[in-house]
Amino acid sequence: MREDPLPDVDPNDGFYRGDNQNRTSGQAQEFKWLTIHSWEAYAKGQDIHMQAAPSQAELLYKEFTIEKERLKGQLKKDIIEKYGNAASEDKPPMELLLGQTGKQMEYDRAGRVIRGQGKAVPKSKYEEDVFINNHTSAWGSWWKDGKWGYKCCKQMIWNSYCTGSAGIEAAEASVELMKANLARKDSLPTAPVVQEEKTLAMWGTETSNEELNLDPKLLKEALKRQDEKKREERDERKRKYNVTWNDQVTVEDMEAYRMKKVHFDDPMKDFLH
Ligand SMILES: [Zn+2]
Repeated sequence: MREDPLPDVDPNDGFYRGDNQNRTSGQAQEFKWLTIHSWEAYAKGQDIHMQAAPSQAELLYKEFTIEKERLKGQLKKDIIEKYGNAASEDKPPMELLLGQTGKQMEYDRAGRVIRGQGKAVPKSKYEEDVFINNHTSAWGSWWKDGKWGYKCCKQMIWNSYCTGSAGIEAAEASVELMKANLARKDSLPTAPVVQEEKTLAMWGTETSNEELNLDPKLLKEALKRQDEKKREERDERKRKYNVTWNDQVTVEDMEAYRMKKVHFDDPMKDFLH
């Protein structure tokens, strides 16, 4: 029984709290680390065996832990040697540490400094008061709707150029326009969306008669034109010098073309002309 059989009972009253309690407490944990160390050392080629030579294994484990601690300390020392220890060296000025100083200062009623040194400002490792792209305020001096920007032109894009007060006016005008448009859109009655029924008309497919309203007079003219065109194609010499083309294709033109068209697989096509 590894788990606690009575987990709801007060731990102080519990007589038996499962095998896991013994497996994770006391010297069992130490023994576990010792065993793991001997396995790993054996895997790496050391002549060490937990059961065959337990004293040797324990001694080696002790040496290993001491060496491990020493290396940890060495690493810390190396890092401090290379990068310096900000915690120990160069104590910050007293006015920063305690908020008070022995220097003489005079203030006016509003709390401004009249005489004496100004307030000490802590130095930052980051660049400060760097104005890029003609801006007169730093990035982050403006905040609106969860976005950061420049205070001078209220722009929210970091690498933007300063547009000054003109930019602010333009932005305000566009916001006003957007509001007006939204208000107008809301005031319009919402028409139900009509689902357009699509008729897939392709070449050669049959179309219903209701859709096709052919003017018989126009169709006759179109047929005549089609004939003329054919004749012209056969004899180019009859074509006049100035040719005007009419690109407009009407429904009647289409019908005339289809009527005159010779189908390749028409068995009677040779008898048409
Ligand atoms: Zn700006």
